Order: sequence, then C-alpha cells, then structure tokens
Amino acid sequence: MKKSISISLTLLFLTFITPLIRSQQLTDTLRLKNYKPVSIFNIPETVVEKGKFPVIDVHSHDYALNEEEINAWVENMNACGIEKTHLLSCNWIGKPFEEFVKKYAAHAGRFAFWTSFDYTGFGEPEWAEKAIQTLIRHKDLGAVGVGEMGDKGMGDLYGYPVPGKGIHIDHPKLKPLLEKCAELNMPINIHIAEPKWMYEPLDIHNDGYVTSAKWYIDTTKVNLGYEGLMLSFENALKANPKTKFIACHYLNMNHDLERLGKLLDKYPNLYIDIAGRMGESAVTPRTTRAFLIKYADRVLFGTDNGMNASMYRHMFRILETNDEHFYIQDYGYHWSYSGLHLPKKVLKKIYYENAKKLFR
Ligand SMILES: [Zn+2]
Repeated sequence: MKKSISISLTLLFLTFITPLIRSQQLTDTLRLKNYKPVSIFNIPETVVEKGKFPVIDVHSHDYALNEEEINAWVENMNACGIEKTHLLSCNWIGKPFEEFVKKYAAHAGRFAFWTSFDYTGFGEPEWAEKAIQTLIRHKDLGAVGVGEMGDKGMGDLYGYPVPGKGIHIDHPKLKPLLEKCAELNMPINIHIAEPKWMYEPLDIHNDGYVTSAKWYIDTTKVNLGYEGLMLSFENALKANPKTKFIACHYLNMNHDLERLGKLLDKYPNLYIDIAGRMGESAVTPRTTRAFLIKYADRVLFGTDNGMNASMYRHMFRILETNDEHFYIQDYGYHWSYSGLHLPKKVLKKIYYENAKKLFR
C-alpha cells in the first residue's frame, strides 16, 4: 500500500510539477532578445521569388567588396527582378566619386550613383562655390542625386572627404547647395532621426525595445531630439520648395502615418522611401496599406539591407501578399508581420514608375 502511494506521488510530480517548474524557470529567464517564435498557424505562406513588376531600388549602398561580389549581386538582382540599384554614397565609399563609379563600371547600366557634399572649409566664404563645382563635376560623371545625408540629432550630414559634423539640414549656409540640387535635378536623400522609440526611455513600456537597445540615441548630449529633427527638416522643406527631398525610411514616422501624410500634403517637394522599415510597417498592415495607396505617387522602393535574394523576397512578401502573422527574424522585433497586399497600380508606382519620373 505504502509503495503504491509513493509511486503515485512520483508520477504526480513528474507529470505536473516538473513541467510547471520548467515553464516557470523559462518565464523567469527568457530574454526578449532571445525570443524567436515560430508561427503555428495553418494559414497561407507565399514565397514571392520575383517582384510582380520590374523594380528600381533607390536606396542601397556599396556593399560589394570586389568584382565577384558585384557579379553575385547582379545575379540576385536578375533572379528577383531588380532592374537597377541606386548606390547612395554618403561616407561609405571612403574614396573619390570617380573610383566609386569605376568599381561598378562592368555593370554600369544596373547601378546608379549618388554623391555627397564636400564640407572641406565649411563656413569659409568660398565654401559654397567650391562645393558646387564638385557637385557639378560629379553630375557630369553620372551622379543622380545627393545622399544619403543623415541627422540623428547631433548634425552629421555625411560627406566626402569631410563630413558635415554638427550641421543640420536647415543650416543657412547649405541653402546655395540645396538650391543648386534643384537646378541640376538632383534629389536629396536624407535620413532624419530614427524610429521614435529610440529616443524614449529604455524601459518595459518601450514599444520597440529590442531594436531600440541596439540603435539607441543618447539624447543627453547636445541633441535636437526627435521633434527638433523634424522641425529642422521641415524648415529645409519650406525654405527650398524646388529641391526634391526623399526622406528615407518613411521619415522614421511609421508610428504616425497621419502626421506623415499631412507633411506630404503640405510639401509637394517631399518624397519618402520605404527602405529598411518593413519591420515597422508590416506590423500595422491596414494603416500602412491605406497610407501607401493614398500617397502612391510619393513613395519609392528601397532596400538598404545588403545584397541577398532573401532580403528582396521578404520585402515582396510584405508588399504583395495577404499572408498574416509571420516572423522575419532579421528585422529584430518581437512582433509578427502581415502582408499589405497592395494593388497592382500602387505596386507599379512604388516599384519603378515614380523613380523613372524622378530620375528622368
Ligand atoms: Zn541607407
């Protein structure tokens, strides 16, 4: 009798108590950054090998280290339907514009090149004229735009060979260059701020905590902060109505597309690219879809995320399909995504029609 009671107790312990302890231990020790859920839902899973229409990627960088990597990249572009890739120079290249163009010369028709301002001697009376001469020379060599410029609060308008440290886009001394860009039909691609949660306290309420921790902005230093950056950008939009600005990454305003829409309504010289913000947009599929349909003429396709075929295909799945609740670990968030299922007319505009108009 005693023996059977002891067997029953052991069984009870193994069946119920041990799993409970394990689950409690996991709950206590699992860290958000290690959380990698897999959807168990029996729902459609669509692989989009190639964009529905030809694609112009207006936001990429000089990722290829050598000729072999450039060739592999072009093969991936072919497999995924990427007609042309724009290489934003910013401070990536670390060498003169001429060499940048030369590096990709074997596939010249498949890449477009952007230049950056040269801030050597910024503040001196002859700076603007010298920088304009460099800009014109680069335009003659094939530069299609200026960027990626950037400002996360401290003023850092990437440039070559000297970056624009401490300079914000509404600096009055930049005006002659911004006006020249309008005259030369060279749009400016600019990275303003970061997603808003990166400027907010890193605590249990921070919506994008995992990525915020990685890209966190230290606002204790002299920093315009999120609102100050938006104000400085709006000043530049207002003061240079003929200059076309592409605010990359949805102007880091995925959390408030109503506000972004109002800016697009107010400033006809403002465009956005969707590069590097799939994780922030596919989490609100209905709001983002409505926004992209409404502002389809002002949105450009961009990646900003390497050269892999899977990277393009994740984006196509989000833009084209009606899939729900899937995870893309590369994006680094703890939430799942849903496809936007954009109408064909809108896809065409975002994939290539708008870029063709802008870079005529
Ligand atoms: Zn970029």
